[in-house]
Amino acid sequence: MSRVFNFSAGPAILPEEVLQRAREEITDWHGCGMSIMEVSHRGKEFTRVAEQAEADLRELMAIPDNYKVMFLQGGASGQFAMIPLNLMTAEQSADYIDTGAWSERAIAEAKLLGKAKVVGEGRSAVPRQHELALNADAAYLHYTPNETIGGLEFDYIPEAGDVPLVVDMSSNILSRPIDVSRFGLIYAGAQKNIGPAGLVVTIIREDLIGKARPGTPTMLDYKIHADNGSMYNTPPTYSWYLAGLVFDWLKQKGGVAAMAEINQRKAAKLYAAIDGSDFYSNPVAPINRSWMNVPFTLAKPELDGEFLKQADAAGLTSLKGHRSVGGMRASIYNAMPEAGVDALVSFMADFEQRYA
Ligand code: PMP
Repeated sequence: MSRVFNFSAGPAILPEEVLQRAREEITDWHGCGMSIMEVSHRGKEFTRVAEQAEADLRELMAIPDNYKVMFLQGGASGQFAMIPLNLMTAEQSADYIDTGAWSERAIAEAKLLGKAKVVGEGRSAVPRQHELALNADAAYLHYTPNETIGGLEFDYIPEAGDVPLVVDMSSNILSRPIDVSRFGLIYAGAQKNIGPAGLVVTIIREDLIGKARPGTPTMLDYKIHADNGSMYNTPPTYSWYLAGLVFDWLKQKGGVAAMAEINQRKAAKLYAAIDGSDFYSNPVAPINRSWMNVPFTLAKPELDGEFLKQADAAGLTSLKGHRSVGGMRASIYNAMPEAGVDALVSFMADFEQRYA
């Protein structure tokens, strides 16, 4: 069977070139006679892979030298706990912007460990800067620049003065250039725009390391991982390797600036198709529509099943919306070719013509 266009929200589509390269290298990595997943994480082979991946990510995102990059486990959800454990004392509180399901998860976790104040909310549009009730003594301000389920994306970086910005970039990291120096901590589960699941990348400004509250378990202390180059224990080596292949692929494609252009174009085509019809709709304010995750509903929800079935048969898979919201969702990460979006748009037009 040939490859389909996979619109899954995560684990998600990977570039075909990356998968081909992984296939070529799987039994014999660069003539060492072993797969890279069979070798010691401390050996020269994996050290080379790990260092190159970090260097490439630093180059792609223009990460300043005073930031550490960590390749960790526990997913983005693990970071929901590591962040309060490391950045706020039990007496302090942190500010959180709530723009959807993943913000809610982060807030709930922070509340287990301290005080989390919701300083702004939105579901179909993000709160504007002047609407944020920020606290100058907050340990940090956390927000989710792209809500994967709601398809809601910030169009600006909140300004919080001296309060460090902490962001869950799981579903929009590497989708465009960003100014890393605006943030205290950036984290992203890998399984969307970075690589396979099992890895979370955390980029942290050095002055925020070494502040874990007393009693923090060793594995949840950023300082342990920073001091040990993410090798305090055995890291997810194969996921790290594949992330490195994706970074290399991104560099060959012209980096995040080139991706941004393509991503914007792909998203614009899909939203134009939705807006240009009475059959499909998306509830998000145009300025906050995600470039990565495009939820949409049909005017006749009783046709959802038929839509999915026929899309699947046309090689357009994993379009079912999140179970909490229903409808459809097309995730169009970096690895989704523009041809995939074109194919979806024409399928949608054809389906509408037959069923509207
Ligand atoms: N944050 C966001 C924005 C996400 O999309 C997800 C996963 N879909 C998570 C957090 C949770 O990630 P993980 O499964 O890696 O814990």
